[in-house]
Amino acid sequence: SMPQYAVYGASGCGRGVMPLARTQLRNEGILNDNLVFIDDNAELHDINGHKILSYEEFIKADRTRSHIAIAIADSKIRQRLAERCCIDGLNPWTIIADNAVIMDDVRLDEGCIICPFVTLTSNIRIGKYFHANLYSYVEHDCVIGDYVTFAPGVKCNGNVVIEDHAYIGAGAIIKQGRPGDPLVIGRGAVIGMGAVVTKDVRPRTIVVGNPASLLSKE
Ligand code: UDP
Repeated sequence: SMPQYAVYGASGCGRGVMPLARTQLRNEGILNDNLVFIDDNAELHDINGHKILSYEEFIKADRTRSHIAIAIADSKIRQRLAERCCIDGLNPWTIIADNAVIMDDVRLDEGCIICPFVTLTSNIRIGKYFHANLYSYVEHDCVIGDYVTFAPGVKCNGNVVIEDHAYIGAGAIIKQGRPGDPLVIGRGAVIGMGAVVTKDVRPRTIVVGNPASLLSKE
């Protein structure tokens, strides 16, 4: 059977990722009319020239030849869907925009989405299902966990550690840490848009402003 490819989520995030998926397949020489959206709540049958299937419809085909990118910004939903896809034997699919710049010794775990104009410099470790939105960057020696989300224009400077499920709002700037003494953004923390983060952020807290300070606890 033909391999089949899907972008899971046909809302804002998914519609931004689909053209990248299309280009990536073309660049890899994979001729594919089988590039679809999966959405469990879609009212439409197609969008921007691609069919929309439910998850149940999509997995009727040969699962070992089925590839899924999860283009949903909410990291908890992303994890739930990723785990279900894994249990069901589907292949996670990483999508990298063809104008992204990725330098030396950058390791990306499965299922990441790297949008146009993103730069990842050198010696970086990134976990599963990272989303790096438009124009964001990650500088040298950063370590990023699983299910981390960067909105557009995030500037993450060198020697920063970002734990699982953190969400970094549009245009936020994260100060560089030091070798052996990184700046740490804790698990599930939320950084408000435009925040200037100058020190560690505790897990599951929300910080905003310049310099970024605590908004509230979850
Ligand atoms: N969605 C889905 N299955 C789920 C959860 C979400 O198909 O279990 C879809 C949902 O129907 C919606 C999309 O994922 O179309 C999420 O879109 P939303 O506008 O909430 O966020 P974004 O596109 O910014 O990630």
